[in-house]
Amino acid sequence: MDGVFIRVEVADAARSDGELARRLEEACPVDIFAATDAGVAIVHENLDECVLCELCLDAAPPGAVRIVKLYDGGASLERQPA
Ligand code: SF4
Repeated sequence: MDGVFIRVEVADAARSDGELARRLEEACPVDIFAATDAGVAIVHENLDECVLCELCLDAAPPGAVRIVKLYDGGASLERQPA
């Protein structure tokens, strides 16, 4: 699930959520998420196109999505659950 620069993690509990999958597919400007019958899929070949816009984090419940910057020692963007 890794690009060279970016890894996107979707929490197990969120991965099968079809509605979330549709929201993520719509939100990401570089098509890193795809909505499938099984829920959220990651489009691996697009991972390194991530522009760190955080629109996916805004579209998902806190804790559901995490963006890991592999080029920056694994620093991550995420919303913490309350
Ligand atoms: S931060 Fe922006 S570009 Fe990166 S995966 Fe999320 S929505 Fe897509």
